[in-house]
Amino acid sequence: MDINISEARSKVNARGFLDIEVDPTLDLFREIERLKKEKNAVLLAHYYQEPDIQDVADYIGDSLGLAQQAAKTDADIIVFAGVHFMAETAKILNPHKKVLLPDLKAGCSLADSAPAALFKQFKAKHPDHIVISYINCTAEIKALSDIICTSGNAKQIIESVPADQPIIFAPDKNLGGYLNKITGRNMVLWNGACMVHEIFSLEKIKKLKVRHPHAKLIAHPECEEAILREAEFIGSTTQLLKFAVQDDAKEYIVATETGILHQMQQDAPTKTFIPAPPDNSCACNDCPHMKLNTLEKLYLCMEYETPEITMEEELRVAALKPIERMLEISRKAGLIG
Ligand code: SF4
Repeated sequence: MDINISEARSKVNARGFLDIEVDPTLDLFREIERLKKEKNAVLLAHYYQEPDIQDVADYIGDSLGLAQQAAKTDADIIVFAGVHFMAETAKILNPHKKVLLPDLKAGCSLADSAPAALFKQFKAKHPDHIVISYINCTAEIKALSDIICTSGNAKQIIESVPADQPIIFAPDKNLGGYLNKITGRNMVLWNGACMVHEIFSLEKIKKLKVRHPHAKLIAHPECEEAILREAEFIGSTTQLLKFAVQDDAKEYIVATETGILHQMQQDAPTKTFIPAPPDNSCACNDCPHMKLNTLEKLYLCMEYETPEITMEEELRVAALKPIERMLEISRKAGLIG
């Protein structure tokens, strides 16, 4: 077993996770609870994680909620069941804590759509602009930004900037376009997008609405404009969840990653939630990056404390500033406690 573990450890960077067989008789829920106590570890999970992971997490949330939890935890170890940029954000906020990610290859097509070298050139072409970046970006992009935002606070962040100050918004062009519309700004947009939120088919949604005439279409602002135009409510993952619980309709067509349907169903068990159909026949509205994390990988990373997120201190400090700015503005706007 030990030889297997040291061999698996040596391959973690290449494989992304500890590639070890897990005893199928193990009660992983119990084991994960045991490890949390023994190691003083907190398990943070994004709404897009598989239901089993959501059920064993200490905190489930969207990017803003998770960043806030990461900022205030007193645990020794943060286990981040989400994608790489989220665990990176936790590390930026907690340099002295160990941050674990079940699979290092859990990336993000949106973060990947903004390579730092190209973005630097783009920024140099707009020297009088400040940069507001959506949290779904790499630490390098954060370090090139003035303020970070999430879909839950982006409007307030933009409105905190004087109206005559030109802004570059990165990396999501759909979210940026939507924000330009609701704030009346004319931000210069980086041409990035999320593969999951770009896949929804307007035609299929319209057909679905014929079959479910009372269902409300609710959408995440990373969706394309044509979908947002049809939506009866647009909001961050947390805002969609709140709306679905508090609103008085009985049926919803949900245009975002399907993982959130688990919480919606738990919080509003009498309502019906229908995932908005993608443009093809595969389950492309499941984020393939988020779903790389499994209960087995989660257990292994907690047991052996690897893969771990590490970062150069210079990069961390540069990336921290715009995140702190976001938390400060969000606090002032009453969005977080
Ligand atoms: S759903 Fe899109 S933005 Fe979110 S992690 Fe997956 S690829 Fe990135």
